[in-house]
Amino acid sequence: MTQPQANLYVGPDHIEQDILCVSDLSYTYGDGTVALEGVTLHVQPRSTLAVVGPNGAGKTTLLKILLGILPGYSGKVRVAGMDPLEARRRGGIVTWVPQRARMIWDFPITVEGVVRMGLVGKTGVLNRHSREDLKFVREVIEVLGLEDLADRPIGAVSGGQQQRAIIARALAPRPMILMLDEPTVGIDQAGQQAFGVLLEQIKRSFGVTLVIVSHDLRTVLQSCERIACLNRQLHFHDSPAMLTPELLAGVFHCNLTGILAPRPAQMPSDECSCGRDCCDPEIPKL
Ligand code: ATP
Repeated sequence: MTQPQANLYVGPDHIEQDILCVSDLSYTYGDGTVALEGVTLHVQPRSTLAVVGPNGAGKTTLLKILLGILPGYSGKVRVAGMDPLEARRRGGIVTWVPQRARMIWDFPITVEGVVRMGLVGKTGVLNRHSREDLKFVREVIEVLGLEDLADRPIGAVSGGQQQRAIIARALAPRPMILMLDEPTVGIDQAGQQAFGVLLEQIKRSFGVTLVIVSHDLRTVLQSCERIACLNRQLHFHDSPAMLTPELLAGVFHCNLTGILAPRPAQMPSDECSCGRDCCDPEIPKL
């Protein structure tokens, strides 16, 4: 069977309706902490959902449930028409990009080696990857702008480039859904804008559905079709254009009016060059 080209890949034909369906979802941890309560949301294929909310709002809990690593919830969850656990067992349906801060690179592997790691779940550790899969890896590397760095040790490229390698790794098994956990942490304002552009390119090239969990409201507002404002319960789930300062204040318990105003254009860059974690004093740190 011939494999689809990167820019034509749209996932299996039978998924015509919502690719993620969450209905009346609640989750309580063993110590009695209620993390999610009655959450209902839907995500259309090849769209972007941003999940935002303050610390402790239940974003990670929701992500873990969708990834099939947190059982014991109540309510209904369907991932590409499957129970999340089944989707996880099948592999390659949902992949995940962890927070940048959690990555440590002190072992010798090239950028391309990191991206190829994404195929292990599909091929197995001891088997050789197929020629088509390796060709797809090269396409992903190209779309992510890493071709000149493919042979470099991952520890010898910048933080932003490492992050792109991790995203490429998550795309290598051709997932239908790509989840990103706080992808813009530690990136300056220009880098955040460039990241929004990259996400659009990923969506166009690979036809993947994106779920972005973030504190960085401003960046996700510019790059998602739908936004879910979570604070244990779901306070808003619609187009970002419908979001009001009053609603944001209700969810985040602080004034975020500036977030809804357009920000001035800047040249994109890979890394923050200002010497601080983030150089935009107008963006409240949630
Ligand atoms: P943050 O933005 O700070 O990462 P979050 O929105 O991802 O927060 P969660 O990590 O999902 O929030 O946590 C939701 C609630 O569940 C919080 O009150 C948290 O303290 C609690 N919680 C998370 N993990 C556990 C656990 N393993 N056991 C008990 N309570 C937990």
